[in-house]
Amino acid sequence: MAYIELKNINKIYPNGFHAVHNFNLEIEKGEFVVFVGPSGCGKSTTLRMIAGLEDISNGDFILNGKRANDLGPREREVAMVFQSYALYPQMTVFDNIAFGLTLQGVDEDVIEERVKNTARILGLTDYLDRLPRALSGGQRQRVAIGRAIIRKVGIFLMDEPLSNLDAKQRVTMRYEIAQIHRETGATTIYVTHDQTEAMTLADRIVVMKDGYVQQIGTPRELYFQPENVFVAGFIGEPPMNFLRGTVQGGAIRFGDVKLDLSRRLPAIGDWEGKQIVFGFRPEAIRLGEQEESFVIPCQVELTEMLGDNTNVYITAGEDRAILKVDSHDTPETDAALTFSIPYESVYLFDGETEKVIR
Ligand code: ATP
Repeated sequence: MAYIELKNINKIYPNGFHAVHNFNLEIEKGEFVVFVGPSGCGKSTTLRMIAGLEDISNGDFILNGKRANDLGPREREVAMVFQSYALYPQMTVFDNIAFGLTLQGVDEDVIEERVKNTARILGLTDYLDRLPRALSGGQRQRVAIGRAIIRKVGIFLMDEPLSNLDAKQRVTMRYEIAQIHRETGATTIYVTHDQTEAMTLADRIVVMKDGYVQQIGTPRELYFQPENVFVAGFIGEPPMNFLRGTVQGGAIRFGDVKLDLSRRLPAIGDWEGKQIVFGFRPEAIRLGEQEESFVIPCQVELTEMLGDNTNVYITAGEDRAILKVDSHDTPETDAALTFSIPYESVYLFDGETEKVIR
């Protein structure tokens, strides 16, 4: 039996807006699940329904095998960390972390021990006497997380907890959140619009768009076996390149090149006259002419050196793409270039439904 089950969950707001459609998911104890998708896709709404902060319009929310739609937030064994960490400014770090337990009237000795233990996990031991204003953004966010984990609830809900931090702090905190999860083993549901956070933190990712679940899977599954154009383009950085074309004589065109798709899809005859999306990841290409590959000549428009690798923006006729190459192989701007995409690294999608063609 799964720890949490969401069965055909829908959210229709009082103004009639249908924000979440038929959301289905089972979560095991200890799992780290990330909801990811662009702004407005319904991820916070879903999280808030799990927290009990928002009514479920229809569907079943099952906790430990029992229907829990009508339980209030406090009865659901959840603790939530929000985007804005809202610490009490006049209270020390110790008192902020202890706050929930103090309210519950927990014994002072127990509070002291649990705050110290939480502070140790979060690397806040040396800051317990400070006020929030004397902390960095990352430290404040850790206090907010401490306030949640000290309650030792079963489910830990986080809504974009890193969005107020700068890029460097986000990377550090991401690592720390993974460590905290390893140490506490708490079931965690984490909302973000950042695919890198999703990929690095999640056991499983739920990709959402316009209120609909697009795909649920491990980071590996989403990267290697995307179900549709949206997931393929959302997971991976830089995003997958897409070339749209009508199949003519078993081929589509990229610039002046005809790509004979029968090499990738033996049943290409069935697609004659239909729209196909040809997808390849920037990192899947190799420079020069390779065997068992689509070989494409192109023009370099711009390069971005990022350290160990370089993003190369290319055009072939009207079509554009990004290639990721080893920085030692960075081409000159305006150079003519040939690159190869191994047949097995190409994804084909139905141009109409945008679903992957297997
Ligand atoms: P973001 O990353 O911007 O927070 P999100 O994926 O978390 O986005 P939600 O906050 O879940 O999105 O909102 C989903 C949709 O529901 C949005 O279109 C939003 O405008 C709408 N919405 C949210 N709250 C309400 C409300 N109280 N009444 C009506 N519509 C709402």
